[in-house]
Amino acid sequence: MEKVSLNGISKRFGDVRVIHDVSLSIRENEFIVLVGPSGCGKSTILRMIAGLESVSGGEIRIGGRVVNDVPPKERDVAMVFQNYALYPHMTVGENMGFSLKMQKRPGAEIESKVQEAAAVLGLTEYLHRKPAALSGGQRQRVAMGRAIVRKPQVFLFDEPLSNLDAQLRTQMRMELKKLHLKLNTTTIYVTHDQVEAMTLADRIVLLKDGHIQQVGAPVDVFERPANVFTGRFIGNPP
Ligand code: ADP
Ligand code: MG
Repeated sequence: MEKVSLNGISKRFGDVRVIHDVSLSIRENEFIVLVGPSGCGKSTILRMIAGLESVSGGEIRIGGRVVNDVPPKERDVAMVFQNYALYPHMTVGENMGFSLKMQKRPGAEIESKVQEAAAVLGLTEYLHRKPAALSGGQRQRVAMGRAIVRKPQVFLFDEPLSNLDAQLRTQMRMELKKLHLKLNTTTIYVTHDQVEAMTLADRIVLLKDGHIQQVGAPVDVFERPANVFTGRFIGNPP
């Protein structure tokens, strides 16, 4: 079952075209990684899917519905950024439940969803702490918790681990993989890190200058790079 589809999408900023005719069909439960060098258009694609950036051409569907003109809040996606900001004056639990509170959901429902997400993320014993009393990895987990409580159809991650040190990044990578196996939410994950792409992805989408270079399972992309660029980028040059 298809969950997200990009149908010939393009993006222009003024006269500059940064995304060119990108088409991609993403299955339900799939973990897709958009990977490529800085400036190739990864964040722009993610932001268009989230509705934070308009589409200059083409069509985006989520759950079968064309969403080009649907505002971000009505797209049923949750995004985790690289520079996530937690509310410093709120506890971990309050941070995680905040979006549900804004939606005026009943307190008991918020409480149970926050508890559930905290259990998945190993944050149960930290729910009453303030963000300042957490480690970097725990804070990153809270940022994910804020996305998880909403039970969106699609997770969008924009380099969520890039501010963490190498050791923590490796650990969080494994946790993300486990989380995906547990929740099975369709995930579109952006990174410029080849290792992250290779370990997390069901399928990798390699981008260069706003063009898709290759789409495939990590092992296929590694063993059969479509061109010199993808071979070099993925670490298996010709
Ligand atoms: P990536 O996330 O792969 O590093 P981006 O999607 O952020 O790349 O950027 C793709 C290209 O679009 C870059 O050349 C960038 O400078 C340009 N760009 C991104 N956002 C804007 C904007 N708001 N206005 C003008 N140019 C932008
Ligand atoms: Mg980016």
